[in-house]
Amino acid sequence: MEMTENQTFTERFDLLGCIQCGRCTGGCPVTVRTNLNVRRFVYDAYNEELLEELARAAEIWDCTACHTCAVRCPKGLKPLEVLIGLRSLLVESGKTQPSVRDALESVFREGNPWEKPRATRSDWMEGLDVPIAQPDQPVENLFFVCCTIAYDPRVQVIAQNLVRLLKGAGVNYAFLGDDESCCGSEVFTLGEEGLFEMIVEDNTELLNGYQAERIVALSPHCFTTFRTRYPNLKKPVLHYTQLLAELLEQGKLAFKGGLAKKIVFHDPCYLGKQSGVFDEPRRLLKAVDGVELVEFDRSRERSLCCEGGGGKMWVESESKKERLAETRIRDARALGADIVAVACPFCVLTLEDAVKALGYEEEMRVVEIMELLGELEVDQDKTNPA
Ligand code: SF4
Ligand code: SF4
Repeated sequence: MEMTENQTFTERFDLLGCIQCGRCTGGCPVTVRTNLNVRRFVYDAYNEELLEELARAAEIWDCTACHTCAVRCPKGLKPLEVLIGLRSLLVESGKTQPSVRDALESVFREGNPWEKPRATRSDWMEGLDVPIAQPDQPVENLFFVCCTIAYDPRVQVIAQNLVRLLKGAGVNYAFLGDDESCCGSEVFTLGEEGLFEMIVEDNTELLNGYQAERIVALSPHCFTTFRTRYPNLKKPVLHYTQLLAELLEQGKLAFKGGLAKKIVFHDPCYLGKQSGVFDEPRRLLKAVDGVELVEFDRSRERSLCCEGGGGKMWVESESKKERLAETRIRDARALGADIVAVACPFCVLTLEDAVKALGYEEEMRVVEIMELLGELEVDQDKTNPA
């Protein structure tokens, strides 16, 4: 969504390219519970005089940035970015919801949207002896944790288990420690363009300053944002499931013990439809003895959004209709799954809430893949040294 100063809204989002086919709205998952009609916004935004009014429409905050509309648009448009452009107009005028304002201010002040102190970003490492990257020391895998994983006690286990596994597999790696700061994924979708540009500049300088062969992101949100919105980042970026799948393939990783469970994998929108990573998480789950992997009807590119993205962690939906995460959990229950496995911290939080809301805690668990693998040990006898 690069914009030059003299571009109009129409030019910036290529609104004239739209043929009003409606495939965007037809595929938009939130239409079952809100009034959002993204095709209509693409049409109306052509009239510059309407922009201010459109920016005040409550529905622009219903978009989860799942990207289904962009995947389906036959003209290669990104309809969701029209909604983000409208959010930007509102943010610019200072008229956003207090929760959004507080999250953005927290990113600006503390480098995370959770209103946590910058100085406690590495507290999750306590007792783990985690190597911290130094600009003058080469490192193969430079890990980027993510604000949510670093601070939320429910999902810190993702990073903690990954460290244990990396040690067991003899991988060369380092973390950024307290120098890590928000990747800006949610700042972008909440429409704070100026802050996002500043974040991209600062993080690009920080990450390019290390002698790292590649950056490995733990969250699909950081992964996709680095891949698609950091034009000057000089290192390749991977999601951690890609790194672990690569280690499996090279015979550098194998697991001891097994897990006799029926597992269904929920493709996170940012990992799947936005970044095309579908097979690696499944390969990891299949590498565990005893696992029976089943599939949702709506899987891979058609995966149903959990409504955790697009800044929705800070914007409560006005709709009282069933949440998509609850629909997802009902689908998992119908499949007889014991475990819903995910590879994204936001999906853990939204789907786990849905399990609780539906009262399925006895029958079903929501776990991040790394949480699950952490219950196993690395089998040193079956692996070649990394
Ligand atoms: S899918 Fe693309 S071309 Fe069709 S209405 Fe939506 S934005 Fe326009
Ligand atoms: S990104 Fe997803 S939620 Fe947002 S308008 Fe597109 S399809 Fe709908």
